[in-house]
Amino acid sequence: MYYLSRLLSTASGRALAALALLAVPVRAVTLVEDGVARCVIMLPAGVQPLLQPAAEDLQACLRKMSGAEVPIIVGEAPTSVAAVLLGVTRDGAIAALSPEEAESTWPDGYVLASGGRDLALLAGRPEGVRNAVYGLLEDHLGCHWFTPGEIGESIPTRRTVDVVLATGRVSVKPAFELRAPWYNGNAVPYEDGKSVEVAQITKWGIRNRAGGLRGYAGQDWVSPFPKELQEKEPGLQAMLNGKRAPRGAEGQVCMSYPRATEIAVNYLISVFAAHPELEYYTFSPNDNDCYCQCPGCMALGKTPSERVLRFSNAVAEGVAAKCPGKGITILPYSSTIEPPGQGSKGAGNLYPVICSYAMEQVRPKTDALPWCQTYRERVSGWMQILPRAWSYDYIGWYPGPWPLFRKLETEQNWYRSLRFTGLMPEYIDRNMGTDIHMWLTWKLGWDREARLDDLLRAFYPAYYGQAAGTMQGIFEAFERQMLGVGGSGEYMEVPRLYPVALVEEALANVSRVRQLADPVLAARLGRDENCLRLLRLFLDAYTFGGQYRRSGNAEDKAKAATACEAYLQLADSLKGTLTVGRTASGFVKAGLDALHDPGTEFTKAGAFIYQDSLDDGGKAFQAKSRSGYFITTYGLSLTPRAIGEIHYEMRATDALTFKDARLHNMYLALPAEGHNSVEVSRDGGTTWVVAYRDVRMAGGSLDYDLTAQIAGARSFLLKLKVVNGGEECLAIDNWAISGTLE
Ligand SMILES: [Zn+2]
Repeated sequence: MYYLSRLLSTASGRALAALALLAVPVRAVTLVEDGVARCVIMLPAGVQPLLQPAAEDLQACLRKMSGAEVPIIVGEAPTSVAAVLLGVTRDGAIAALSPEEAESTWPDGYVLASGGRDLALLAGRPEGVRNAVYGLLEDHLGCHWFTPGEIGESIPTRRTVDVVLATGRVSVKPAFELRAPWYNGNAVPYEDGKSVEVAQITKWGIRNRAGGLRGYAGQDWVSPFPKELQEKEPGLQAMLNGKRAPRGAEGQVCMSYPRATEIAVNYLISVFAAHPELEYYTFSPNDNDCYCQCPGCMALGKTPSERVLRFSNAVAEGVAAKCPGKGITILPYSSTIEPPGQGSKGAGNLYPVICSYAMEQVRPKTDALPWCQTYRERVSGWMQILPRAWSYDYIGWYPGPWPLFRKLETEQNWYRSLRFTGLMPEYIDRNMGTDIHMWLTWKLGWDREARLDDLLRAFYPAYYGQAAGTMQGIFEAFERQMLGVGGSGEYMEVPRLYPVALVEEALANVSRVRQLADPVLAARLGRDENCLRLLRLFLDAYTFGGQYRRSGNAEDKAKAATACEAYLQLADSLKGTLTVGRTASGFVKAGLDALHDPGTEFTKAGAFIYQDSLDDGGKAFQAKSRSGYFITTYGLSLTPRAIGEIHYEMRATDALTFKDARLHNMYLALPAEGHNSVEVSRDGGTTWVVAYRDVRMAGGSLDYDLTAQIAGARSFLLKLKVVNGGEECLAIDNWAISGTLE
């Protein structure tokens, strides 16, 4: 008693740190004895938006554990009982850490100290005290929150609750300064249950000590450089193809404009003045590659990465001069993913977020695959000039389980070896295993001593009880299969990653163990079973849809439509149950719509559009005829020397005629030693007019006008032809036509 009250009422941080070194006899702090509360939970006075809910959670957990009702108090602790002190002393004063201890637990770690009967939770910031509550519950009392909602909670029961800190004082520093895995807007559950379910997911993250540095990292040059400002200061306007124009989120700005740095710095100063609690803020460019091409900008560096880094450095230095301790994010991504050349150097207050962009998404980044090697070379290049980096991985690509737990540990170790200090993976969808993946990310991101095997050894029995062995077997079977196949995150990979036989075996096993389970376990297994049922329907929808695209067979179309409808019905019935996200539902809905697509006949005056990704054949079955091409993953391909032709009949009904039209989003190959052409016939194919010949149409935003060839026609044939050279090629990837009918 004496020790702790002295300790906590000591004003001097140095004296406090010195006292901490004095050995005190290790004794258990008893919170509950034989079902009776032997402590109070004490909060600092005043509004405590972070600590109040944590205190209530601690109270609720102790109740679930032992049946005891522990009071939460503010003011002064009664001398008759022990106190769990949340950043406060026994007599109600704020309890602070010494600067040394605040530093050694930075940014949101904590100290747990026991002395006399009391247990003190101390940290440099309220988030740290809150993390201490959950560290106490998880690391010392065995509570876990594996998945969101009550269903994911695991609270061991016992009549007496003691806390023993081996040395009387435990100092905890998170392994990563930022632990921010997040479910994006499509991965979170459905709109109508949104507020409740999102709140549950947020609470789940807090309980797992998510967080770290405070700030925001979205892609945003619109706020510092709004369009209106660009109109007033035309020098800020980015030059594209020789023309300057004010642009919003679809563009960027002129980085070499003399006032650009000052404008950005002033904007960031105003952000930090309005929100002094923030430690970093975004200076990540808008989500496009339209960087300024003016001579001044081109002189900033050889590549977009070099130019953006140089500009960002100037802004970072301006921020550091006016707001010491504050930093800005940058985003090596897309056209800025290649590391700048030797001689570049990142400012000390840059927080670069490096995207795992356009690469292997299933096998680990340490794999020997060429694009993993390319990625590693890029990142290593960046890390030679950066003070730190945060990783940005994409998780949950497919409408099936995501059990890639080994990959997670391997990659986190690799990141740490490269001096990464933050984790910001984006979860694209939510499905069986994504919650566990996120839980593991938090655990590995918090505790540098944590090991995947130990975490899984704790997880399987605590969450799956008697079904642990079966479920571990299912997760591992999917993990093996996926790692064996690999993938880039495309839906066409789904049948190979999740073969029907494996899915059916998993379904049968989950269903079998669910029969024997108690209600909580049955609910957990029910979630997984529903995810697998959805996957099984997806496989039918995808496979029969693909067969129909090749054969035009009505029976295949009916089977695909039935599977799509069953998928959507089941997904719909699961709204509000926190079972799955909705990304895959959107894909299935689009697939169902495509099955009923009216094709190339247009019935209304005004704008018309027809477009096709041709992925796995797409809507090629709607063409009037097709020869030479064969269907591959991304479109229509040709064997060496083959000639491919596909004819579409574009028809207007009633008294309508085509007024104008253009091709866009075109990918039409021009093979080496080969040819291509776009041709139009207005007489049913007797005579053809060549609109374009030997033009490489490589996607992007270029339009190819057809108005001269089609104006006034009620219908016309459109031919997309490729004469291949000596190597197999993807001849048409995607294409689109739009225009006006009158
Ligand atoms: Zn410029």
